[in-house]
Amino acid sequence: MSELMRPTFDLDLIQKYGGEGPRYTSYPTAPQFSDRFTASDYCAAMAESNRLPIPADLSLYVHVPFCHNPCFYCGCNRVITRSLTAGDSFLDSLARELAMVAPRFDEDRIVRQLHLGGGTPTFLDTDQLARLLHMLQTHFPFADQAELGLEVDPRTIDPSGLRRLADMGFNRISIGVQDLEPDVQQAVNRIHDTAMVSATLGGARASGFDSISVDLIYGLPLQTTTGFARTIDTIISLRPDRIALFNYAHLPHLFKAQRRIDESQLPAPSTKLAIFRNALNRLLDAGYEFIGMDHFALPGDSLVKARKDGSLVRNFQGYSTHGGLDLISFGPSAISQVADSFAQNVRSLDDWSVQLIEGRIPTARGLTRTIDDRLRAEIIERIMCTGSLCYRDMERRFELSFRRYFAREIEQLEALQEDGLIEFRNGGFSVTSSGLLFLRAIAKVFDAYLQPQTLGSGRFSRIV
Ligand code: SF4
Repeated sequence: MSELMRPTFDLDLIQKYGGEGPRYTSYPTAPQFSDRFTASDYCAAMAESNRLPIPADLSLYVHVPFCHNPCFYCGCNRVITRSLTAGDSFLDSLARELAMVAPRFDEDRIVRQLHLGGGTPTFLDTDQLARLLHMLQTHFPFADQAELGLEVDPRTIDPSGLRRLADMGFNRISIGVQDLEPDVQQAVNRIHDTAMVSATLGGARASGFDSISVDLIYGLPLQTTTGFARTIDTIISLRPDRIALFNYAHLPHLFKAQRRIDESQLPAPSTKLAIFRNALNRLLDAGYEFIGMDHFALPGDSLVKARKDGSLVRNFQGYSTHGGLDLISFGPSAISQVADSFAQNVRSLDDWSVQLIEGRIPTARGLTRTIDDRLRAEIIERIMCTGSLCYRDMERRFELSFRRYFAREIEQLEALQEDGLIEFRNGGFSVTSSGLLFLRAIAKVFDAYLQPQTLGSGRFSRIV
């Protein structure tokens, strides 16, 4: 099978299109969620999802909000604690949430995918993780081949723990590494040596996980081109199936943890770009294929296959091979997507626990999509996941004249074409190799909520 297109790195284009933009893990994006959307709206969405002629299968997400130590780059919703009772209390609350939410879905709706994120899911020990999985499996029927994945901090699990997770049925693992250089690790307060990372990866492989992914971040304090190249080369030598190379977004006004980063140690923009360019080339030269945004995978990985056959989708966990599922999420700040609604839980662990004790579904905000939202969501997902758009497909699905409905957007696309980011063809357009790094910039043409004044305000991360 042919290789995926290799993105071109062009400094002038980065200057023009590499600014801020949403990551489009949903459309409309989370800033559009409203607190007028309540638990009863979420219940209505759950009921509606059962009434569809063919109700969707399910994807589950659990947000485990604990970490032992604060990483200074962190932008996640988490609680730093060493409490020995926190995990069990969390699971007691989760049991309440499951008991309130799960019975609202018809019993024949099958779980195809489970993901545990956080925080640090492996803050929970393997007995607690077994209890968590058992609770989910008691409430929902799981497909035999369901994808069961979790994020792992190499400091919190050893090879015997990984074997236990595999025995429970977990088959996908995402290992948070970020950087292997000791001075960078010190500067971000996340210290684990290469041997520990290598043991985690080796342990996951020996335990039979189907897919092993590693997360890296560029743009951290004290990173250099040479140092990050060492990290990339070491990770490449360990051959994970997938590598996510995230662009560090320094937004200390939004994320308190980041205020502990010494800004004078952050790489200059030109150094950061050199780090990225070098990492990009190393990954591509080593045989990893570019999926989109920050994701790379080996040719045999299901993400590559899905990218090639057009079945790739985007959801709150990033790129995924499972489309058309209703996403039911549990835990503080977790976001569900059911039927045409998004529902986000309250952010604070305490509020979440108290509302559950009081017998309330802890929805804080959300949104029900309009037809225009659904149309734009589909267009944005096609651009992000396939790098192309066929106007006729959209006209057939939504019964409209694409050129009339999107006259303003087509004008903007023409400017992108002049700059070589896209090519018009076959009643639509395709993203070129020059445009591949700017999928978000192309997708945002179709974002009806994005106001020019919100870009540059530090609400979104940089595209490159
Ligand atoms: S980056 Fe991950 S492990 Fe570090 S504090 Fe944040 S959630 Fe916890």
